[in-house]
Amino acid sequence: MERLKDVVESLNKEFSVESFGKDPAFSRFIPEVYQHEPDWKSFFEPMFTQFYNGLMIKGEATIRNVFLAVFPTTHVLEKFIHKSEPGDLLFMHHPLVMECGDPLGKWGRGFVPIEHHFLHQIAEKGLSIYTCHAPLDYHPTLSTSLAIAEQLGLENREGFIHDDKHGNLGIIGNCQSTNTELLIAKLKAIFNTPYVDFEGCHQSDIKKIAVVAGCGDKVKWMKEVEERGVDAYVTGEIHCHIDNEYGRMRYQEMKNYVKTTSMSLIGVSHSASEYLVKETLMSEWFRSHFDVNLVMIPQEKWWL
Ligand SMILES: [Zn+2]
Repeated sequence: MERLKDVVESLNKEFSVESFGKDPAFSRFIPEVYQHEPDWKSFFEPMFTQFYNGLMIKGEATIRNVFLAVFPTTHVLEKFIHKSEPGDLLFMHHPLVMECGDPLGKWGRGFVPIEHHFLHQIAEKGLSIYTCHAPLDYHPTLSTSLAIAEQLGLENREGFIHDDKHGNLGIIGNCQSTNTELLIAKLKAIFNTPYVDFEGCHQSDIKKIAVVAGCGDKVKWMKEVEERGVDAYVTGEIHCHIDNEYGRMRYQEMKNYVKTTSMSLIGVSHSASEYLVKETLMSEWFRSHFDVNLVMIPQEKWWL
């Protein structure tokens, strides 16, 4: 058992929540998705509505179980509410579901808010939620991309997508020589995904890989790593499949670019690419800092 206060203080310190400043993505998207609800801020802790990272919903003072998930999907929230005891904590990467679309199915709706009845059930049961987005993506030893680089055994690592204040979002590294088919099989096993999204060329000798968790569907980033000798680019999304004008514009931009690259571009899904760190680096962090039982909540479906 641990005190919620101690766990929150420790997480805030590890991720420098205050000094990081407002989360660049969710400080825009949370007010946007809740814009038709004038009192939306009352659902969340005051500090959360300032930084958009940290303790989002505060429950009872003592934690027995910490649940780890990536997005607040219906399945994830039902599992958390059903399996938890009062005071338990849910740690996630996103405070909103991000539907990026399924490359073999329906296109997504983008950011989706948490339904009211879940917010009420969470409050009634005295449960807590803590989310950490950009500070986790940029963290030097716990990042979403680092979790992928470690599972792929990348060596001689260098950063890319650099931010002067926060560091690097992506990682480039050398792997043992492989080919596209073997790399895809390995990624399907690591991420437990039924299929990947693929563009670009099949490579018979892959020695250098770039990884970036989440939405890696940026032509600029792909061009940069290809110039740096990368053979394969691994990310959550290689295409934006959001069902609106923005999504279709981004999809077309990528379709035009992929004809020109000789890299293998592989997407494992936004949510799976960001869930891995919960299974590995974040689980180790909770185990080494606190006496709590850890419960993983993988998603029912990774391609949303
Ligand atoms: Zn994400």
